[in-house]
Amino acid sequence: ATLSVASILAESAVRHADRTAFHFAGTRTTYRELWDQTRAYAGALRARGIGRGDRVAMLVPNVPDFARVYYAALSLGAIVVPVHLLFKADEIAYVLRDASADLLVVAAPLLGEAVPAAAAAGVPLVTVLLPADSGADLPRLEAEAAAAEPIPRHDSVGPIDAATILYTSGTTGTPKGAVGSHLSIVEQVHTTLIDAFDLRADDVVFGGLPLFHTFGQTAVMNIALRVGASVILLPRFDADEALALTADLGATVFTAVPTMYVGMLEAARRSSARPPLRYAVSGGAALPVAVLEAFRDAFGADVHEGYGLTETAPTVSSNPLREPIRPGTVGRALWGVDVAIADPDVDETVVLLDAQDALGEIVVRGHNLFKGYLGRADASAAAVVDGWFRTGDLGTCTDGVLTIVDRKKDMIVRSGYNVYPTEVEAVLARHPGIAVAAVFGVEDDVRGQEVHAAVVAHDGVELDPDEVVVFVRDRIAAYKYPRVVHLVPSLPLGSSGKVLKRELVAQFSPVR
Ligand code: ATP
Repeated sequence: ATLSVASILAESAVRHADRTAFHFAGTRTTYRELWDQTRAYAGALRARGIGRGDRVAMLVPNVPDFARVYYAALSLGAIVVPVHLLFKADEIAYVLRDASADLLVVAAPLLGEAVPAAAAAGVPLVTVLLPADSGADLPRLEAEAAAAEPIPRHDSVGPIDAATILYTSGTTGTPKGAVGSHLSIVEQVHTTLIDAFDLRADDVVFGGLPLFHTFGQTAVMNIALRVGASVILLPRFDADEALALTADLGATVFTAVPTMYVGMLEAARRSSARPPLRYAVSGGAALPVAVLEAFRDAFGADVHEGYGLTETAPTVSSNPLREPIRPGTVGRALWGVDVAIADPDVDETVVLLDAQDALGEIVVRGHNLFKGYLGRADASAAAVVDGWFRTGDLGTCTDGVLTIVDRKKDMIVRSGYNVYPTEVEAVLARHPGIAVAAVFGVEDDVRGQEVHAAVVAHDGVELDPDEVVVFVRDRIAAYKYPRVVHLVPSLPLGSSGKVLKRELVAQFSPVR
């Protein structure tokens, strides 16, 4: 066996052969079945000439075929490039070209955008889940797998060989491909299992986070398959369905982004079904303490908040399972991961701030760091300085416990005062009529930026924007409370479930 991502599934197929790897659409897939199907796909990919170092792009939702294609390509030593499921043809073509993809594997429902993208980028395309009698004249990986010789084992790769190219979601501009190594992913799996979340073969893990994103891919799929646990796959997050499925299938671990927690709380008002959770994990964005508390009341489980990024495979820190949680913090750095606070205004070097409680930019060093942005020497050099990865997040680290204050770029400067949206959102989350809220800065001639909030009311609640303004004003310094509150039916979410603030800024900015 080698230190490779494919060995996660290969080894579990031996140790946990008859256990359930996936629950999906009323059926279950055992580890043995999953590995057999993966080997068959690997045979088909090899017959297409895919081997070590080749790039296999994939547009596959959360279905068992995601894992088959992912581990099949990795088992050949190829590099997997999972593409964002919401990308349109031009964006897909951009990724195919940028990653120099050798092949695009597409699940049938996503062919509409994928076919023109593959044609534009000149990349061959093969489908999965396309019925044989669909009439579409496209190659099918299932048929090619049936005709090919399966690959009995996984090929050896070097630990620092590239395993994945994950495109950052683009909230900061043009998507960049973060290259992750086998070492970064496998080490991440083991350290999270030891230090952060004990996960066992008899656990049933909720799998509603998108698998194309690092959070779902490693913090859900890779760690669960490593220990022989079962994952409930949900291709499209719907809170009522998630609640019913997790209750029916006996989910013991719930891993999600904050907006999913809010959705689950809403669903729990409509249904009395509850999964037998041992614990829950949140990451990807700040979890308001009010949501954490409401979740504990409704589901009887503590939410362990962690912090991570695509570039760090993903977890940097977490509230460890065996310690009392510290609400409002993202816990301690994982083993082998160094976290420090640096001066956010000095770019060329990393100037560490040593004072206790110093507020600055979080920088990270360790085995979990990415290898760089594909083909972007400049962006890579700007991101990793003096061996430290600059996260772009502001925070503090007190006695080894990390607190995220906000993203550097989301900070609002109102009349020269810094306002951190996360802090204001935490106050809004305490309002009994508010389900979810997002705070953002809108350009203002007088004050530079003005604080705005977009809020979604609980089902059936009539909110008065002026009353919401007063609610926050009574609880926070005068320069921080939102002067303008917009009532909206829902917040714009990316497919990883994070609020897209730039869309709110665009929607509510004055037309100039
Ligand atoms: P892009 O890089 O394209 O802008 P993104 O920043 O959302 O997209 P990800 O790698 O998905 O890329 O997310 C990492 C970011 O998520 C972190 O930099 C941080 O801002 C935020 N984040 C993650 N966990 C937490 C947390 N627990 N609390 C607050 N913010 C968090």
